[in-house]
Amino acid sequence: MTTTFESGPGRLFIGGQWREAADGARTDVIDPSTGQVVTTVAEASAADVDAAVQAARQAFDNGAWSGLSGRERGRVLHRVAELIRENADEIAALESRDVGKPITLCHAVDVTNAANDYEYYASLAWTLDGATRDTPLNGLAYTRRGPLGVVAAITPFNFPLILAGSKIGPALAAGNTVVHKPAEETPLSALYMAELLKKAGVPDGVFNVVTGTGPVAGEALLRNPGVDKIAFTGSTAVGRHAASVAGEGLKSVTMELGGNAAHIVFEDADVEKAIGAIIKGFVFNTGQFCMGGPRLLVARPLYETVIGILSQAVPGVPVGDPRNPETVVGPMAGEKHLKKVEEYVELARKEGGRIVCGGERLDLNGGFYYRPTVIADLANDSRVVQEEIFGPVLTVQPFDSEDEAVEMANSTPYGLASGLQTTNLARAHRVADRLQAGIVWVNEWAMLDPAVPFGGVKASGFGREYGPEALEAYTKVKSVVVSLD
Ligand code: NAD
Repeated sequence: MTTTFESGPGRLFIGGQWREAADGARTDVIDPSTGQVVTTVAEASAADVDAAVQAARQAFDNGAWSGLSGRERGRVLHRVAELIRENADEIAALESRDVGKPITLCHAVDVTNAANDYEYYASLAWTLDGATRDTPLNGLAYTRRGPLGVVAAITPFNFPLILAGSKIGPALAAGNTVVHKPAEETPLSALYMAELLKKAGVPDGVFNVVTGTGPVAGEALLRNPGVDKIAFTGSTAVGRHAASVAGEGLKSVTMELGGNAAHIVFEDADVEKAIGAIIKGFVFNTGQFCMGGPRLLVARPLYETVIGILSQAVPGVPVGDPRNPETVVGPMAGEKHLKKVEEYVELARKEGGRIVCGGERLDLNGGFYYRPTVIADLANDSRVVQEEIFGPVLTVQPFDSEDEAVEMANSTPYGLASGLQTTNLARAHRVADRLQAGIVWVNEWAMLDPAVPFGGVKASGFGREYGPEALEAYTKVKSVVVSLD
């Protein structure tokens, strides 16, 4: 396999062919660790998006993929997983350069999970069966599950490979065809995957990639009448818009949106063990993690103790060049993301926050680095606590009772993830039940597996990725009733 660095600037992948945008537009791809341009990719217009949707439509209608049995499609998806593993070093290096992710993280999480995702959905492709239903009718009633048609997969910048795989895997397993629009900042692994899927045996037109901006390429995809389903991951603001456009077109839709999870430390927690999960919860992927735990709620007797431990431990987290295997925190994925974090930390100062550590940029090689930052003493209704910062920033607040902890945890508009630290088993289950979130972690953070569904409630969206639930989101059910008279 070749990377887009070696094979030249990225182009659109439509109907199994590489092509320039119809108007020749191109856009720069920037290495976040240096701020330098590393390559360019084509910038799709609405006409290019339409060509991709038409290619996907034709490929769906000709049955070259949708007409295969689930197990035949599963074999191809197994091959995709194998190819990801065979090319792990190259894919990890590409993702690290594009997103600024630490190389060790790219191997351990992005590449590993992407391969696991395809493998999981390859296996589930065998399970696309229906059911018979007992009825008082003198008839045989049964259901069959089939694909929806053309899926538009729109993904954000922070986990390009995984969040594409969590849509492409179940979509293709179910027999759909796909047009993928990656985020403008981080398009490279999507182009790599186009080449890899083709090599694995996915027929031309079944998988297409249009790189380009949200307002042009993304919008054109949302509005294209040839699209049957929108699988969107991104911010709540854009998701609201995407859902309303999808509503007008009566398209199927899943929405994976923003998050602002609370991580609760009860007075009976194993604090030494909890500290690792707390730090991971807010520095993982440089804090650009929708399911991160940026709001730490600590039982008041432990409040200053936990802050003291964090003030010692957090400055020791290795921040730096993502290509160094020791690095845990790399740069933010783009300058605008860095500026947003700076603005929120400034706001925290104005809102009365105590900066325990960090609170500033790190000047290194012209990259977009920000030091992991801990802020104490903010009021629960402060904007810094309530809004999604999406960077390596942790706020710490005390609470006085279990009820208050739950109330504070549930107090933001979001509901993607949540977590708690306790050694009390009954409390673990009781509180997990009361937290408004799609996933709750107990005594850990960010344990993810393709078999375990995730998704949001409230402003974090609806629908589930991963698990058999995701396959349901890419299929429709048809009932057949045969008269036995
Ligand atoms: P974003 O909403 O800015 O962009 C997401 C995607 O939508 C990009 O591909 C973008 O080009 C596209 N887009 C933008 N405007 C569009 C439009 N008008 N029509 C169609 N598409 C459009 O999000 P981002 O900054 O890339 O990602 C960060 C956000 O994503 C955070 O809020 C984060 O919490 C969220 N996120 C959620 C999950 C989850 O699983 N729930 C996972 C990762 C990230």
